[in-house]
Amino acid sequence: MRIVLLGPPGAGKGTQAKKIATRYNIPHISTGDLFRENLKNKTPLGQKAKAYMDAGKLVPDELVIALVEDRITKDDCRSGYLLDGFPRTVAQASALATFNEKLGKPLNYALNIDVPESLLIERIVGRRVCPKCGASYHIEFNPPKVDGQCDIDGADLVQRADDSEETVKTRLNVYNSESAPLVDYYHFKGVLVNVDGNQKPDEVTSAVFNILDGGAK
Ligand code: ADP
Ligand code: ADP
Repeated sequence: MRIVLLGPPGAGKGTQAKKIATRYNIPHISTGDLFRENLKNKTPLGQKAKAYMDAGKLVPDELVIALVEDRITKDDCRSGYLLDGFPRTVAQASALATFNEKLGKPLNYALNIDVPESLLIERIVGRRVCPKCGASYHIEFNPPKVDGQCDIDGADLVQRADDSEETVKTRLNVYNSESAPLVDYYHFKGVLVNVDGNQKPDEVTSAVFNILDGGAK
């Protein structure tokens, strides 16, 4: 199954992606995580992406597209993948469509997590992430079992540098102008499914499984 996850920053893409990837046994590919890893390792790609990420702006299309095309042609993507945070522009979506057409492997779903904008800032500012496995928590809505520690591997949770209130506003504006049009784009392609992201995380997961299990499109 080949899936792209759509939704604004803070919609719950990362949270749901982990569950989906486990259930359907497909790799979870988060472009944000890939860039953060490159930043941490000070690779040339990380150095190119840093200024954009710090400012809450999008990394240029050509860098992201090359990164994703390289990743989805790896062996573990043979039976599918879940893209989280890609595409974020119509140019990225068209590049992916062209690439997939060449491979004869079209997308099955574009899963859009729908959350009212008024809830997003609170979600993002309260987000804490595991630097080791990428798991995402919220200080109030989804706290870890032990304060400040990842449930999965016990690592100390951190706040992402771009999760400040100021940068979040830029990211939401960028989402509205650059990424929101993808909902119509995939609707037109006939692969869009919407899920209400304004429910408890487990309820969102059930709704998602219901769609993906049932094959509803
Ligand atoms: P995204 O990957 O779309 O930016 P995350 O999955 O990291 O979003 O979630 C953003 C924040 O909101 C995190 O702190 C997460 O724990 C929290 N969160 C995720 N899903 C929900 C939900 N259904 N209700 C409340 N908070 C949520
Ligand atoms: P969030 O979970 O809040 O939606 P991500 O972790 O997906 O954020 O992305 C963090 C940052 O990485 C973005 O603000 C952007 O700078 C960069 N980035 C990630 N994916 C893309 C993409 N597909 N196109 C351009 N920039 C991207």
